[in-house]
Amino acid sequence: MNRHSICDAALLESAARRSIRYLSGIGERSVWPTPEALRGLAQFDKELPSDPADPEAVLDLLDRAGSPATVANAGGFVVGGSLPVTVAANWLAGAWDQNSVMAICSPVAAHLEEVAARWLLEILGLPAQSGVGFVGCDTVAIFVALAAARRALLLREGWDPDVQGLFGAPPITVVVSDETHVSVHKALGLLGLGRERVVRVPTDSQGRMQASAMPPVLRLKVPKLVCIQAGNVNTGSFDDAAEIGEAAHEHGAWVHVDGAFGIWAAAAPRRERLTRGIADADSWSFDAHKWLNVPYDSGVVAVREARYLRESMGGDAAYLQRGTRDPGFLTPGMSTRARGVEVWAALAALGRSGVADLIERTCRHAARLAEGLQAAGFEILNDVVINQVLVSFGDDIATRAVIAAVQTDGTCWCGGTVWHGRAAMRISVSGWATTEEDVERSLNAMIRIARDCGRQTAAAD
Ligand SMILES: *Cc1c(COP(=O)(O)O)cnc(C)c1O
Repeated sequence: MNRHSICDAALLESAARRSIRYLSGIGERSVWPTPEALRGLAQFDKELPSDPADPEAVLDLLDRAGSPATVANAGGFVVGGSLPVTVAANWLAGAWDQNSVMAICSPVAAHLEEVAARWLLEILGLPAQSGVGFVGCDTVAIFVALAAARRALLLREGWDPDVQGLFGAPPITVVVSDETHVSVHKALGLLGLGRERVVRVPTDSQGRMQASAMPPVLRLKVPKLVCIQAGNVNTGSFDDAAEIGEAAHEHGAWVHVDGAFGIWAAAAPRRERLTRGIADADSWSFDAHKWLNVPYDSGVVAVREARYLRESMGGDAAYLQRGTRDPGFLTPGMSTRARGVEVWAALAALGRSGVADLIERTCRHAARLAEGLQAAGFEILNDVVINQVLVSFGDDIATRAVIAAVQTDGTCWCGGTVWHGRAAMRISVSGWATTEEDVERSLNAMIRIARDCGRQTAAAD
């Protein structure tokens, strides 16, 4: 064991070999870990070691017991995988071990964030002067965006929420839809705005906020926050950001767009119409670890008027380095890893056309799955506008049985959901590596499994 060398080349090479073996075998294994692999996790159940161990032995256990118990996301049929260049960039950045809190702690982390931020705003068609923060996930990005919103709305009322707190502050009316993602409610709770202290707008058959049903409170002269969704987690549908945003702005509301994965449709010319009006909002939150296919964890927040982002996240800015980007003062945390590196690497390697192709290709795969399932006699419950498909295999019991069987079969992995009171299997095609053959293989597996389940039910009757 080499305890004194900073560079343990043999250990790093072993990690690289193991990672390569893991990734090259991913196509042959089932997506969900086998029962044996799950039982293997018991190998970690040991007492806290009293003495140092050989690092190679530690890595070996991680690989032997850990690798088989992973969900094979990396190739990507589920919630996005990781582009090889982003994994490689992640390793290198891991070796760098940068603290991105301030530019003075890591010029490279701050600089790459700056470039990645500029590219993100450009590729998504968002205002170029927006402030951008790199966080762990979309939920935190929502939290940050709504903190900036809270600040802007209450400053107008002569109240500084970040200094004075919320006790005694003028109330903010929050407008969401019946289909607003749970993460928005979570963020509202953390901000003291209340998870359920919201006005809910009804949604249509696709889960879109009904622009015609905007609540009368919107017309009152009180601070208002309207949360729009770009990409419903079930149907992939988009709220009409142009119409709702305009109505909200007319009455002085702050408009936030949660675009977790859906906002990436703006990068694909053929899907762009779905994102009409999104760029007119005041803040945006989205993920890089879903559709952009960078490793976990990676979310992004953008705020049109950068000062609200800086001021709400700045804390005691006494030791801020003026004139430089200090990532730790644009996010809730301070010391963080250099998250911008992988986002930069993905955009640098894909370019504008590569991102457009990734989005368009996965949407096409989703359309093909929907078409194939429908042709086989199963019901598609949503209009397939991007990469999401909801399918029913009959009644709820039948659908749930098929979902369970698909998950055990392991050709692909799809989750279950409930859509407008009906059980459905949710297919999300987000992984860069999903090929047409994968799609056909998955389609055949789903149809075979659904028919087998159907026969079993018929036999049991
Ligand atoms: C996934 C998702 C979220 C939450 O994203 P995290 O990265 O898991 O925090 C929020 N909104 C929508 C619409 C999503 O699909």
